[in-house]
Amino acid sequence: MAKKVVVVGGGSGGLVAARMVQTEATRLGRDLDVTLISASEKHYMPPLWSEVALGTASPEETWAPIKNAEKAYGFKVVVDPVKTFDLAGKKVVTESGQNFDYDFLVIALGTAYGWSDYKGLDRYGYHNYTEEGALELKQQLATFKGKKIVFLVPELPFRCGIYPPEMALNLRAYFEARGQHPEITILYPADAIRMALGEGLDRFFKRRFKRTGINYVTGFEQLLEVTENKVVTKHGEYEYDLLIKSPPSRLPKVLADNGLAHPGDPRWSVVTGPLFKHPEHPEVYLVGEHAMPPVGLLTAGVPIHNAAVIAGASILNEALGGYMIPSYGDTLCMGHSFESGFAGNCEYWWIPEEGKWGHACYTVATGPMVRLMKDSFYRGWLDALR
Ligand SMILES: Cc1cc2nc3c(=O)[nH]c(=O)nc-3n(C[C@H](O)[C@H](O)[C@H](O)COP(=O)(O)OP(=O)(O)OC[C@H]3O[C@@H](n4cnc5c(N)ncnc54)[C@H](O)[C@@H]3O)c2cc1C
Repeated sequence: MAKKVVVVGGGSGGLVAARMVQTEATRLGRDLDVTLISASEKHYMPPLWSEVALGTASPEETWAPIKNAEKAYGFKVVVDPVKTFDLAGKKVVTESGQNFDYDFLVIALGTAYGWSDYKGLDRYGYHNYTEEGALELKQQLATFKGKKIVFLVPELPFRCGIYPPEMALNLRAYFEARGQHPEITILYPADAIRMALGEGLDRFFKRRFKRTGINYVTGFEQLLEVTENKVVTKHGEYEYDLLIKSPPSRLPKVLADNGLAHPGDPRWSVVTGPLFKHPEHPEVYLVGEHAMPPVGLLTAGVPIHNAAVIAGASILNEALGGYMIPSYGDTLCMGHSFESGFAGNCEYWWIPEEGKWGHACYTVATGPMVRLMKDSFYRGWLDALR
């Protein structure tokens, strides 16, 4: 009987893992029973929410139906949130009561947002970390008449480290086009924009901030409170007319409820490298954003893509035999910067004694072409599911 592979999560990590296992099994003429279970019928490309806020994309352009993966790639898709992970019994149970037993399980559930973990952060400010949030921010930007915009990063690491500088520069371009020149300030808890994308990109951003007049306040250490007109930190208070915020990352509740929190830091899930396996259940792989920091990786789609490819290859190897497992590949991150774009590459190597990847990152390209490449990548990714 064909081995059963269950993938939980219909975002970046889940889609890449299920697609890899199914398409490779088909190419090899081998039989595997692959099922992807997701809470939502929508497969989102979350970076496009920034464009929704800025008015250059509609909400419909940010997602494609995950069910279409059945026809496009050949695996089964079930839309029904998973409620129980029974790792000892090798099965998952959904909220509607469906049981799925498995030989291999892949978990990729993104991250949850801890807005209520800081006083006032859930009440004040706007964000584009959900489709609804992006529409609210769009409305705020379109009607903004004030002077001060503060972009707050409450804590590290957070979802997509390049997002604040990228969005701040996009905002400057947005308001320039409307003849408005608000003061834009990024408030960052640590000493430098540690995007882990290398010093070259740090220098690039600082030059751009200077040229476009973006304030970059680092090292506030701890967020104490957000009120209706200011951000209060350990090292000072910052007034705003419009607050834009990135969310503190928290473990999705279903993982916490099922004993999958990391013992060292409950914001993340258990995982061991270099194959992204559960420490006690080697047939279980964790490749979502929740599994990246414990093994030294960034909380962004690109590292998750690589993790899902490795998990997929490991499953193919164990289920079918003789399948080569690639080592963790380079990751290329592309971003917007005012009218232009940038691309940073990171090379990785596994450090067994630390149980983490080491990395070296550098800037590979800047210029408007990179901006176009980023936009086309996202749209092409979703078009493949339409
Ligand atoms: C504004 C913004 C900008 C970004 N920019 C970039 C960028 O430029 N580059 C980059 O690499 N990354 C970027 N990211 C980050 C990237 O989108 C995420 O890191 C990536 O989507 C995480 O993949 P994932 O599979 O772990 O989770 P997600 O893509 O969030 O998917 C999680 C999936 O799990 C499903 N799910 C949740 N609960 C359950 C359950 N109980 N049962 C079943 N399914 C469930 C959800 O429905 C969803 O399908 C950005 C994110 C945002 C918000």
